[in-house]
Amino acid sequence: MIAFLERFIPENDKETEADDDGIIINREIELQGSIDYGCTGPAGKDFGGMNDIRPLAVIRPAGPEDVARVVSAASKSANLTIAARGNGHSINGQAMAERGMVIDMRAMNGQIEVVRISGSSYVDVGGGVLWEELLNHCVLGFGVSPRSWTDYLGLTVGGTLSNAGISGQAFRYGPQTSNVSELEVVTAKGDTLVCSESQNSELFFGVLGGLGQFGIITRARVLVQTAPDMVKWIRVVYAEFEEYARDAEFLVTRPEGDSFDYVEGFAFVNSDDPVNGWPSVPLGSDCGFDPISIPRTAGPVLYCLEVAFHYRNDVESSSIEKVVGHMLGQLRFCENLKFQLDVSYIEFLQRVKRVELAAKATGIWDTPHPWLNLFVSKPDIADFDRMVFKKILKDGIGGPMLVYPLLRSKWDDRTSVVIPEGEIFYIVALLRFNPPYPKGPPVEELVAQNDEIIQCCITHAFDFKLYLPYYRSQDQWKRHFGKQWPKFVERKTRFDPTAILAPGQRIFSRTH
Ligand code: FAD
Repeated sequence: MIAFLERFIPENDKETEADDDGIIINREIELQGSIDYGCTGPAGKDFGGMNDIRPLAVIRPAGPEDVARVVSAASKSANLTIAARGNGHSINGQAMAERGMVIDMRAMNGQIEVVRISGSSYVDVGGGVLWEELLNHCVLGFGVSPRSWTDYLGLTVGGTLSNAGISGQAFRYGPQTSNVSELEVVTAKGDTLVCSESQNSELFFGVLGGLGQFGIITRARVLVQTAPDMVKWIRVVYAEFEEYARDAEFLVTRPEGDSFDYVEGFAFVNSDDPVNGWPSVPLGSDCGFDPISIPRTAGPVLYCLEVAFHYRNDVESSSIEKVVGHMLGQLRFCENLKFQLDVSYIEFLQRVKRVELAAKATGIWDTPHPWLNLFVSKPDIADFDRMVFKKILKDGIGGPMLVYPLLRSKWDDRTSVVIPEGEIFYIVALLRFNPPYPKGPPVEELVAQNDEIIQCCITHAFDFKLYLPYYRSQDQWKRHFGKQWPKFVERKTRFDPTAILAPGQRIFSRTH
C-alpha cells in the first residue's frame, strides 16, 4: 500500500491553520505503510490514562525504511516532532507527540529470527514486537529464551530497551539493556545505523535506556539461552523488613548455581484486605493464608519474598526438592507461611497476563494508573520502609508494592540509564489498580501521594532515582541525570540536535 505524508491542515482548526506552515511537511513521501490523519485513536492515550494528547497523525510503518523516511522528512521541517509508540504502556504521556507524528511501532512487520554467532544464540527481533510474542516464538519454536524479562510481557522490545526492562532475573543477568548485543537504529537525521559495543558504540549505549531521545530502535539482537521446562514458584513471608532484606540480598549475591533463578518481593498490608492484605500472597487457589502464623510483633506491613527455580522435566523431583530445600533452609521467613506451585516456564512468564485478564474483566485495567517506580539505594531502604511503607502506604495502594534488591555491577554504566550509587539498590514499584472515582480515590489524591513519597526521599537526602522518570522542567532532568547529564546532552546534540524525537519525555524542546 502506498500512502503519502502530505501537507496537513486539520479541518475546523483555524488556530493551527494560522501557524501551521512551520510545523507541517508538505513534501510527498512514498511509504509502504499508511498514515492516519483523522482518527488517531489510541496514540493520544496511554496506560497511565492521565493524558489525552492528540497528534497530527499516526504513521503505521511497514518496515524500518518507512520509519527512516518519516524521520528524515520531519528533520527537514521546521517544528515537527516524532514519537515512536511501542505498546503505549507509559504512565505520563512519554510516547505521545502533541501536534507531532506518532509512529505506531506495533504496525511494523514483527520480524523474529533465532541466530547463532560465535557459539552464542541470539534472537533478532523488530523494535515493535511484544516480549510475549518473542516468548512464544523462541520457547515453543526453538526451545530458547531471553535471559532477562519484564514481569509483564505486553510491552515492546523497543519500549523497554528505551528504559531498562527489569524483572526477577535482573539480579543475575542485569536489565534487558544489558542483554542485547546489537541494535538497528534510525537516528533523528533519518539515517539507519547498526550499532553495538564495537560499532557506532556511542549510539548503541545512548539508545539503551535513552528514553527514545537518540533514535528509534527498529531491530534488536537479544541474547538467548536454553529455556527450562518448568518453574518451582515459591513465596515466603517475613514480619520484619530487616530480615526480609537480609535474605533477599543474600540470594541476589549468591553465585550462579547456588541461588534461585528469579528473586523478587513485595510489601503487603497486615490485614485481611482482599487486594492489599494476606489474600494477595498465596499461589494457586487451593491454599489460604493463615494469619495465626504472623508473629505478634509484626507491624502494619509484611513482606513477601518471591523466588523461582527453573528445572527440566527429565530431572528427578527428589533432587529438585533437595536443592530448593537447601536454599530455603538458609532463609529466615515465618514458619508455615510458605506457598509454592509448579508451573510451566511459559505459564510462569505469563503470570501478569492473568492479572491483566482479571483487571480487564473488572474494568480496572482501563482506569487511570498513577504508578510510581523508584530505585532506592541499600543504605536508605530501611528508612524508606519505615517512612513510606509503614506510614504513607500502610493501608496499601490497591495493587502490588514491589520492593527487591538489584546489583549495580550487572548494569552497564555506558548506557543512558541512571541508578543510585553503591552495589546494592532496590526497585520500588507502586502499581496502583484503583477503581475510578468516586468508587476509588480521586487520581489527584494518588498523584499527591506519589509526590509526597518523592518529597520524603528528597527531604531525607536518600540516594534514589525515578525509574521510568517523569519530570516537567529541565532542571529536574538535570538533577535526575546528575553527573551523567553532560553526556546525555552531548549525545542529544550529536544524534538529535533539533530535538525531534520522543517529545513526550519533556526533556528537550524542538528547535529549528
Ligand atoms: P511506550 O510506552 O510506547 O514507549 C515508551 C518510551 O519509549 C516512549 O518515550 C517512546 O517514544 C519510546 N519508544 C517506544 N518504542 C521505541 C523504539 N522502538 N525506539 C525508541 N524509542 C521507543 N517495566 C519493567 O522494567 N519491568 C516490568 O516488569 C514492567 N511491567 C509493566 C507492567 C505494566 C502493566 C505496565 C503498564 C508497564 C510496565 N513496565 C515495566 C514499564 C514499561 O517497561 C515501560 O512503560 C515501557 O516504556 C513500556 O513499553 P511500551 O512498549 O508500551 O513503550
